[in-house]
Amino acid sequence: MDYKIVENSLFARIARMVLKSRNVAMVLGNNIHLSGVDRVTFLQDDGWLAHELCHIRQFREHGYFRFLWLYLKESMRVGYYNNKYEVEAREAGMKHKKHMLAAKKAAGSVKSADLPLPADVKKGV
Ligand SMILES: [Zn+2]
Repeated sequence: MDYKIVENSLFARIARMVLKSRNVAMVLGNNIHLSGVDRVTFLQDDGWLAHELCHIRQFREHGYFRFLWLYLKESMRVGYYNNKYEVEAREAGMKHKKHMLAAKKAAGSVKSADLPLPADVKKGV
């Protein structure tokens, strides 16, 4: 999949400050914005990468602004954790390593942040 990684992203840094989190990965269109985690560390984490790639696919599927709107609406309706786009991304993050319990646990530690954006934080990075 075609995507770009933006390290030390201002957007992700703002999200990180709002969330008081150590690290944030946030997808906007084809770009994965990172703050508090570098590209190499992020790419080594298959589960996290797969999670964010799923958000990129969602942007493509629904269109940029339409997806942001759908994501926001869904979050207001059911909350961030149960947001169907986050559920789908979490499943994507676990799928390819289903047989590995440790990996599954690691992928499961990607948490959707309480923001009306597809932003995620990772515990223990
Ligand atoms: Zn997510």
